[in-house]
Amino acid sequence: MRLTVVGCAGSFPGPDSAASCYLLEADGFRLVVDLGNGALGALQRHIGLFDVDAICLSHLHADHCVDLYSYSIARAYSPAGPQPPIPVYGPAGTSERIGLIHGPGADGGLMKRFTFESLAPGTFEIGPFRVTTAHMNHPVEAFGFRFTHDGRSLAYSGDSGETGELVPLARGSDVFLCEAAFLDGPDLPPDLHLTPGQAAGYATRAGAGQLVLTHLQPWNRAEQAFREAASFGGELALAHAGQVIEIG
Ligand SMILES: [Zn+2]
Repeated sequence: MRLTVVGCAGSFPGPDSAASCYLLEADGFRLVVDLGNGALGALQRHIGLFDVDAICLSHLHADHCVDLYSYSIARAYSPAGPQPPIPVYGPAGTSERIGLIHGPGADGGLMKRFTFESLAPGTFEIGPFRVTTAHMNHPVEAFGFRFTHDGRSLAYSGDSGETGELVPLARGSDVFLCEAAFLDGPDLPPDLHLTPGQAAGYATRAGAGQLVLTHLQPWNRAEQAFREAASFGGELALAHAGQVIEIG
């Protein structure tokens, strides 16, 4: 399977990256994981606007989901005619939450451009991928994912503060895409985000092959994030927009 980092800026888009969005492809199936601010534009650098087969949303903070609304506009009003619905897997209430962006009044059936499946911790299939989900530690309901295909696996933290769920989710994964929104420092708010050092600790305990730090906030120095994760003994990388990682 192939991972493309469409956007990896944390909390808001930066000058060089949209907010969170990842494209996972295998056997011709295209799964979009998160669709944050600016991601729909960047996604079109990699695949056609209507080439998406399914979407997974880790949680309903805007920097992970807000461009789903833009995508409903594109699918509803395409010159080629309304596009058929595709599945969206997200926390309970995703349809209602995204629909609110439209504002008061009828939305013209925009949310009918998708079929919504509520996530719960467990394992299920999306196309060729086996997907395991777990609750993360964040102010809203948030999920981490593990995607497995052909014996290879990608774990993704979504957004999370410290949690015991990350090590089992990422155990033995080939690539662990882990958020590191905060740099180490005093008085970091708890139960919100991780530091690079914490991400490195989880990746080490999980025995992940490669750690890719993501959700990097534009006002932080990326090289400092890299240094703070240096305790990880495997391959270490910082996510950047346009990055392609072949997994297996
Ligand atoms: Zn969040």
